[in-house]
Amino acid sequence: MKRIKTSCKALALLGSSVVIMLTGCSAGESPAAAEKHEAQVFAMDTVMLFTAYGEHGAEALTAAEEVIYALEADLDPANPGGSVYAANAGAGQYVPVSEDCINIMSTTMEQYRATGGALDPGLYAVVQAWGFISGEYRVPAQTELNGLLAEKNTEGLLIDEARSAVYVPAGTAISFGAVGKGYAAQKAVEAMAAAGVESAILSLGGNVQTLGATKPDGSLWQVAVTDPRDTGAYVGILTIGEAAVVTSGGYQRFFEQDGVTYIHIIDPADGWPVDNDLLSVTVVTEDGAKADALSTALFVMGAEGALAHYRAEGGFEMVLITQDGRVIVTPGLRDSFGERSGEYSYEYPEK
Ligand code: AMP
Ligand code: MG
Repeated sequence: MKRIKTSCKALALLGSSVVIMLTGCSAGESPAAAEKHEAQVFAMDTVMLFTAYGEHGAEALTAAEEVIYALEADLDPANPGGSVYAANAGAGQYVPVSEDCINIMSTTMEQYRATGGALDPGLYAVVQAWGFISGEYRVPAQTELNGLLAEKNTEGLLIDEARSAVYVPAGTAISFGAVGKGYAAQKAVEAMAAAGVESAILSLGGNVQTLGATKPDGSLWQVAVTDPRDTGAYVGILTIGEAAVVTSGGYQRFFEQDGVTYIHIIDPADGWPVDNDLLSVTVVTEDGAKADALSTALFVMGAEGALAHYRAEGGFEMVLITQDGRVIVTPGLRDSFGERSGEYSYEYPEK
C-alpha cells in the first residue's frame, strides 16, 4: 500500500480502462482551482488516483484512503482477517460479517437476480482455477470446471441483516471481485463528502466516480473511454455530472496460451472466459457498486443481451465497444459523449 502525493500536473492513468482527463494547473488559474489535492494510491491490485478540491481536500484524501484500505482488507477472500474469508471459511453456517460485506453482498445478489446470474459471486473457485487470483494462469480441464460449477450454489447465499451475518452454502466460495472497486469508490466519495469536500474525482483503474455535479470552476467532469485495442487512446469522452463510470473489458486482464487469449471475466454458464462480440462495456449510473456489478454482467451478456437488459431494466446508461469496431452509445449519453476515434463506427440507438 503506497501513496504518492502529486503536485498540480496533468495526470493520466495509462493502462486503465477509463482515464480521467485532468487539465492541470496553469499559471493563470484561479485560487479556488489551485486548491487541488491529489494522491496516487496502490490498492486492490490497482493504481488509484484521487483528486479533491477545496480547503478540506487533504483530509478528504486521507479519509478516502482509509476507506479503500479497510475495504481491501475486509473484502479480500485471501485475507484471514476479512469478512469474505470468514464467510467462505464458515461455509455451511451463518458467519458474522461487516456492514460493508452485508451491503456489497446485497447489491451483488440483487444484480445476480436482475441479470439472470450473469454476475455470479459464487464463481470464486472457477476464477481461481484459471489462475486469475494467483497469477499462475492455466487452462483447467472441462471436468474440473464442471465439478466446480456443480458444487457452486449461489442461489443458496443468504443474508441476515438483523444479525449482520451471511450464509454461504457448503461447497461454494464467494468473492466480490466484480463489484469491490465500485463499492469502494462509492464509499470513498461518501467519506470525502463527510470530510467537507464538495468536488472530487476518483479513478480506481476502470472505475471512475465523481463527487459534485461540477468541478469548482463550474465545468463538468470529463472521463475518457479507453480504446480496448489501443489502451493509450480513447474512443470517446464522456462529459458528466455526479456519477460512477465503470468499464469492464477483456483487455484489462487476460493471458495467452497456445495462441488463444483467455480473459478474466467468466461466463457462469460454462466456467470459461467470455468470448463474445464485446471488447468492453462502460456503465454510467449513480451508485458505484451497481455500476461495477452491471459492467461485468453486461459484458457476459454480449451486445444484444446488454441492449435487451438496458431496454428492460433502465436505471443506467452504457457505451458498448464491439469486436467488429462499433461503439454503441445509449440515449441518455447521446449528448454527453464526444467521439474521439476514426477507427470505430458510432451508433446511437433510439432505445
Ligand atoms: P470486473 O473487472 O468488474 O468486470 O470484474 C471482473 C472480476 O470479477 C474478475 O477478475 C473475477 O475476479 C470476477 N469475475 C469474473 N467473472 C465474473 C462473473 N461472471 N461474475 C462475477 N464475478 C466475476
Ligand atoms: Mg465489475
